[in-house]
Amino acid sequence: DLKMIYYVTPTYPRPEQIPELTRLSHTLMHVPRIHWVIADDQPICSETVKTVVRRSGIPFTHISSPKPFQYKSNNFPRGVANRRAAIDWIRQNIHEGILYFGDDDNTIDLQLFEEMRMTKRVSMFPVGLIGGYGVSSPIVKDGKVAGFFDSWPGSRTFPVDMAGFAVNIEFLTSSASMPYIAGHEEDKFLVSLGLKIEDIEPLADNCTKVMVWHTRTVKFKKPTLKVNFDKMNGDQY
Ligand code: UDP
Ligand code: MN
Repeated sequence: DLKMIYYVTPTYPRPEQIPELTRLSHTLMHVPRIHWVIADDQPICSETVKTVVRRSGIPFTHISSPKPFQYKSNNFPRGVANRRAAIDWIRQNIHEGILYFGDDDNTIDLQLFEEMRMTKRVSMFPVGLIGGYGVSSPIVKDGKVAGFFDSWPGSRTFPVDMAGFAVNIEFLTSSASMPYIAGHEEDKFLVSLGLKIEDIEPLADNCTKVMVWHTRTVKFKKPTLKVNFDKMNGDQY
């Protein structure tokens, strides 16, 4: 029988949040055996988010874990408190299946779900529309990962994007952790699993196909109306 996929989506309030989650839910509705872990970075779970997720009919768990208040400037680790809470929830409640970190604004090909379901330990695949090279991908030689193609090596052991790997939950040991270090979340997480490069399973035709994209939405500009949006919407604008 098909392994479950636990699709972990960190999310936060902003004008683009509901459209992003609506679109993502319409992708996930096509996927069998999926459980959506929707992880709010707020002190409480957003009712608006819950409404969108519930309407999709996808089995889900909604958790919240506020980001530490000091992370409000520009270059801060995005979506870490909530991903960490999701990792904890999975470790405490789930014993088999596949973990995937899918941001609320990414775009994913349905075919990739069928491939990542086969992950034995950690699988990897290219991510499109990212960094200075336009793609971030493992380099595969004779069916094995031999190195990485990424515009920002950053002295990382595994220079990959959050959307570029899936993990078998049986491989998610108690040492698994994600740090609050911008740019190093993926690498430090994979290292914390005790991953070795020779154990990586390349997917997407030996990493020759892009099946997930790091799409980003242009920030909505505050409308020039004579109403005080800041007052109406807290710090959403
Ligand atoms: N995110 C979050 N809290 C924040 C900023 C971002 O939970 O304060 C989430 C966001 O919803 C997304 C992921 O973290 O799912 C990555 O953030 P973003 O897309 O803004 O980063 P980028 O892809 O531009 O690096
Ligand atoms: Mn993004």
